[in-house]
Amino acid sequence: MKVAFLAPAGAMHRYNGMFHKNLHYAPITLALLAALLPAELNAEPVIYDETAEAIPLDLKADVICITCITGTAERSYRFADYFRSRGIPVIIGGVHATVMPDEAKQHADCVMVGLGDETFPQAMRDLAAGRLKEFYYGHSCVDISGRPIPRKDLLKKDRYITLNTVECVRGCNHACSFCAYPTAFGKHVITRPVEDVIAEIKTFKGKIVIFPDVNLIADIKYAKELFTAMIPLKKWWFGLTTTAIGHNDELLAVFKKSGCKGLLLGFESVNQETQKDINKGVNTVNEYDWIMQKLHDHGILVMGCFAFGSDEDHTDVFKRTAQLCLSAKIDLPRFSIITPFPGTPFYNELKEQDRITEDDWALYDVEHVVYKPKNMTKQELERGIEEAWMMCYSWKAIFQRFDFKRIKRWFFIYLLCNIGYRKYAKNFNKYDESVMTDNSDIPEV
Ligand code: SF4
Repeated sequence: MKVAFLAPAGAMHRYNGMFHKNLHYAPITLALLAALLPAELNAEPVIYDETAEAIPLDLKADVICITCITGTAERSYRFADYFRSRGIPVIIGGVHATVMPDEAKQHADCVMVGLGDETFPQAMRDLAAGRLKEFYYGHSCVDISGRPIPRKDLLKKDRYITLNTVECVRGCNHACSFCAYPTAFGKHVITRPVEDVIAEIKTFKGKIVIFPDVNLIADIKYAKELFTAMIPLKKWWFGLTTTAIGHNDELLAVFKKSGCKGLLLGFESVNQETQKDINKGVNTVNEYDWIMQKLHDHGILVMGCFAFGSDEDHTDVFKRTAQLCLSAKIDLPRFSIITPFPGTPFYNELKEQDRITEDDWALYDVEHVVYKPKNMTKQELERGIEEAWMMCYSWKAIFQRFDFKRIKRWFFIYLLCNIGYRKYAKNFNKYDESVMTDNSDIPEV
């Protein structure tokens, strides 16, 4: 049985040469599903990830499995409709299919709702036996111990910055009102046995390890155990946490010893009221300066993410945020528009207020405005985010943001990452609504 796994990508992230190669690391989801294919099916899997290569329209397969998030849903449906018109059954899963299963079903023979670790192998057995169901519902607390290593050998390895991505913890202990993750998968935190994670990391070539999990400190006790076990491996690792890491000196010391070199933190806003509004009470805005200093003292660089467009944001928010990025010396500031993903409390609130203005999911990519902002126009929000990028990624700002006192030895890495993001900032306005929603490269059925 030939099984083709597809990960369609939005226009901004679709592979188009060197620039994208520099910014993407190997995804895990489809490689894991390929590894979970039941052995008795003798399946021959292939993976097409659009951040790394085009999806061929003449693809030959017995079944096509598509993963989609909201921003890629329209494109995923277009692929699904096309391949179904060629007589190939299509299975759709992922966050968007989980929150909008009935919509996804209009374009697929089968929808995987929730986590697919247990249900996907069952669906494949059912397909082989000719009894594929329309929906499979995964438990939110699946056991992920002893599971196989993802088949990253199926990815185009030279198109990623690294193949060394590993999952250790699934889920988040917070429930931010805009985040699709708790809406789709609940608040359960599932951990993989430390020995499984360490064994997988030992198979990696090279020094770098990336943990793409949404919150590495969702279970503090587990994080301490895992990163203590990583110390002897002498790796350099990167991952995502919340700002709560700044308050845990013991864990921070373990992070340093285990080789943590970079963290992505969701600072979200310079308005404390917004943190309350989006249910991200873990963030205290006037602590951002010392959190940055503390992380730099531990040799950790920070990608700091901010989301514009909350009901507390006025047109001065862009400049205030850029100033904070400069004064707090945030190594890689990243800006997005707070986006109401379907099913989230934020979406429901805006819907109730009749403020949702876009129904093309391709624009739900956190870079486009899909609702009426409260204290500015759509155009002001769009222009503002562009200005924030430019204010933080001018050459002067790049040098101004660098913390020479604390992280001097990482200057080269800092500069390389900033050059990458400067390029991103400059290309930003090329991806307007017409480019984002254009799927004319896939025949319409
Ligand atoms: S902390 Fe991050 S992953 Fe967790 S709910 Fe909030 S935005 Fe989502």
